[in-house]
Amino acid sequence: MSASSELGCSTCGKRYRASAWTELPTVRILTWADMHVHVTAWPEETVVAVRACSACGAAMARTSQRRMVPVGVEPA
Ligand SMILES: [Zn+2]
Repeated sequence: MSASSELGCSTCGKRYRASAWTELPTVRILTWADMHVHVTAWPEETVVAVRACSACGAAMARTSQRRMVPVGVEPA
């Protein structure tokens, strides 16, 4: 994962680093099952995370790779 992958809120302009983004409250996670209704060629390993901006509450969507999510790995 790249530390330079920032995400900006399109409503208020607040910027989040990848680490800050993952701590925002999740509105919903869209998986292939949700997306392939709208996008025929949606890759199965790609999910869309929708999170709420901490500053203005607007929903922000970002794609991520399912396989990049560590499973059962907790920082010591
Ligand atoms: Zn915002």
